Amino acid sequence: MKSQMRKQVLVTGGAGFLGSHLCERLLNDGHDVLCVDNFFTGSKDNILHMLKNPHFEVMRHDVTFPLYVEVDEIYNLACPASPIHYQHDPVQTTKTSVHGAINMLGLAKRVNAKIFQASTSEVYGDPKIHPQTEDYWGNVNPIGFRSCYDEGKRCAETLFFDYRRQHNLRIKVARIFNTYGPKMHPNDGRVVSNFIMQALQGLPITIYGDGLQSRSFCYVDDLIEVFVRLMGSPDGFTGPVNTGNPGEFTIKELAEKIIDLTGSSSKLDYKPLPSDDPIQRQPDISLAREKLGWEPNIQLEEGLRKTIPYFDELLKTS
Ligand code: NAD
Ligand code: UDP
Ligand code: UDP
Repeated sequence: MKSQMRKQVLVTGGAGFLGSHLCERLLNDGHDVLCVDNFFTGSKDNILHMLKNPHFEVMRHDVTFPLYVEVDEIYNLACPASPIHYQHDPVQTTKTSVHGAINMLGLAKRVNAKIFQASTSEVYGDPKIHPQTEDYWGNVNPIGFRSCYDEGKRCAETLFFDYRRQHNLRIKVARIFNTYGPKMHPNDGRVVSNFIMQALQGLPITIYGDGLQSRSFCYVDDLIEVFVRLMGSPDGFTGPVNTGNPGEFTIKELAEKIIDLTGSSSKLDYKPLPSDDPIQRQPDISLAREKLGWEPNIQLEEGLRKTIPYFDELLKTS
């Protein structure tokens, strides 16, 4: 049965945190997967277990250069996602979002593929409305340290909608809110990985600012489910659609939860807040509920319990 519906699916950024989970899901759903990655933040370890699968293929390639392959669907995830990594080479970050989107859209146009864009809640910047709905245009600094990422992703959305209007492409745009789980990069500075790594080693937990800023954290399995549902939705539904878990926590609450779950003796260590750090963030997911029948099922504590052993194992084997 499965082979009749087998599709050729390209995942850019497929060796990254979300990309590797997505590749696994697509293989399990019976598709052929082509993982394209330049390994800037992704890792071979994330995809090692799939290499033996004849339906899985890896190509080292930078999406800022053209790519000529034949596929039915494209998930465009290539882009460093953590502030440390995307600010490391900000010009390359913008190029990855913008040139990468142009190349993948050009590819989708040539082969008539459906194309998904991993956009971000950062398009809302430091939001003035709460929770954020898709019709909010955002509050983004165009010239700050986060702008290479935020404006790059905003421009990519513009390109997606212009390719739809101009060339009638079948597009799907997901605005992803903070997501966590196994295979996050241990040193990419994101809050969940930082706090778990620090707690497991008994190191001080680095809270930036007063820790009262908030985020809403989605477990990776819930997110991958909504990616697949969005790709499978009718062509008339393009998004943008918020994808995330509306459960909102302050950073201090997150630290305390992680200390509790790891049984750690770590103390809180307050550090300066980076510039343009959004004060609060929570997705309104009514659209995803209505159009995709989707709801995240894994709440923070359960998700952290699934994530902590991954980092524990990493520390034991490193
Ligand atoms: P990640 O850094 O683990 O994965 C990104 C992948 O893209 C890596 O494997 C990296 O090597 C690859 N890559 C980077 N530049 C590339 C280029 N020029 N050519 C080819 N490959 C390239 O990050 P992630 O968390 O898995 O994020 C995946 C996507 O989801 C990104 O587009 C990110 O902006 C988006 N996103 C993630 C989150 C989150 O919370 N994880 C939130 C919002 C949006
Ligand atoms: N492109 C690609 N693979 C393809 C087709 C196009 O990488 O299979 C790239 C190509 O570099 C091109 C870009 O996508 O510049 C945009 O393509 P499009 O056809 O939209 O515009 P063009 O620049 O070719 O007029
Ligand atoms: N943060 C923190 N300590 C850390 C890492 C991050 O207090 O060690 C804060 C950060 O300032 C931000 C929040 O946690 O307010 C989420 O940071 P992350 O980099 O994970 O994601 P983003 O800011 O892109 O939402």
